[in-house]
Amino acid sequence: CGIVGAVSMRNIVPILVQGLQRLEYRGYDSCGVAVHASSLDATRPAGLQRARSTARVAELLEQVQTDRVDGATGIAHTRWATHGAPEVHNAHPHFSHGTGDASGTPGRVALVHNGIIENHEELRAALQARGYVFTSQTDTEVIAHLVDSHYSGDLFEAVQAAVAQLHGAYAIAVMHRDEPHRVVGARAGSPLILGVGTGGGEHFLASDAMALAGVTDQIVYLEEGDLVDLQLGRYWIVGKGREALTPAQRPVRTVQ
Ligand code: GLU
Repeated sequence: CGIVGAVSMRNIVPILVQGLQRLEYRGYDSCGVAVHASSLDATRPAGLQRARSTARVAELLEQVQTDRVDGATGIAHTRWATHGAPEVHNAHPHFSHGTGDASGTPGRVALVHNGIIENHEELRAALQARGYVFTSQTDTEVIAHLVDSHYSGDLFEAVQAAVAQLHGAYAIAVMHRDEPHRVVGARAGSPLILGVGTGGGEHFLASDAMALAGVTDQIVYLEEGDLVDLQLGRYWIVGKGREALTPAQRPVRTVQ
């Protein structure tokens, strides 16, 4: 339903959660946020942490404060369930491996998704045959494992390979445990925008520019089939079927 993501140098969780609150009016049944724990504080163990809730976004905020979920790189989601009941284990972000709980194993890939993956059943069967363990009934979780299965050190390349296997509609935002200052997005059939930060080299992703009101008014509307690579001080957009070496030019618009 709603997506917000960021690569920054400050604790980005308040902005991610506020972004979800701006998207609340669209309706949702659960919400969640995942961060790169060491992106802000390098003394923390590297890894992805998350908090998820079937209550209001305001309660997610309390949960992240209690559990000290903070980081400079993160993704967040409000879910409107299409596959799998509105329960915490089906809420996004979905992880490949790990629980991301304070006591559990950090995840490897974290992913949020808007839309519907039509070939999720065959993808799930193929991934299970390779040993991937599923912890939800969502169509979304297959994308997290699929990205992991393609990963060999470069998240952008892994996402590009994974989306080539998807049928359906999606806007996604993805992080990887081993790349603490990177978020990769992709869209086909669901909206996704890039927010160009006004200072400090930070950049944002969102399903709607409204989620970034008061954060940045510099918006790039991604086109159908676009992939976007967010890193500190740099973003890169690649159009459908293009090599990562050929960036697409998209205008930056000032929104009111
Ligand atoms: N199909 C996904 C799910 O049910 C995403 C739904 C959404 O767009 O929020 O989890």
